[in-house]
Amino acid sequence: MKNIENYRDRCIALLEDRGVTIYDIADAARFLQADYHKGLKAEEFFESIMSVLDKREVQFAIMTAIELDRQAENGTMIDKELEDVLRRDEGLYGVDEVNAYGICNLYGSISLTNFGFIDKKKYGIIAKLNEEGKDGVHCHTFLDDIVGAIAASAAGRFAHSRLRSKREEV
Ligand code: MG
Repeated sequence: MKNIENYRDRCIALLEDRGVTIYDIADAARFLQADYHKGLKAEEFFESIMSVLDKREVQFAIMTAIELDRQAENGTMIDKELEDVLRRDEGLYGVDEVNAYGICNLYGSISLTNFGFIDKKKYGIIAKLNEEGKDGVHCHTFLDDIVGAIAASAAGRFAHSRLRSKREEV
C-alpha cells in the first residue's frame, strides 16, 4: 500500500489560499481560553494548532471541506442541487458541522463545547468567513466550521496541558 504522506503543510497552504492564517486560528483559540488564563497571547497556541494539524484525520477533514467549498464556489460540482445548497449555506444541511466534529472528537468534550461556543459567537476569522460567504462570490460553508474546530481542538489541548503542568507544580 502506498504510504500516506503527512499533509500538514499542504493543509496550511490550502487554508492560507482560502484566506485563513495560523495566526487567525490561534487568535480564535486564545479567545476560547481568555476567561481561564489572564494575558494569553495567540502565539501560545501555535504549538497546539500544529499538533492538531499533524493528525491525518484532521488533514483529510480539511482537504475535503476546502475541496467541496471550492467546487461549489466555482460552479463545478456535478450535482447542481447540492451545489446550490452549499452556495446558500443552507441552515439544515449540517454535514459541514459533522465533518468538523470529527476533528473535535479527537480532543474530548472541552473541544466539542468550545466548538459550539465559537460557532455561536462567530469570533474573528469565523465572522469574516461568514460575512464573505454571503457576498455571492465566496463559498465558506465547510471552511468556517473547520476553522472553528481546529481552534476549539487547539484550545482543548492547551487547557489539558495547562492543567497537567499545574498538577506537576504541586
Ligand atoms: Mg458552515
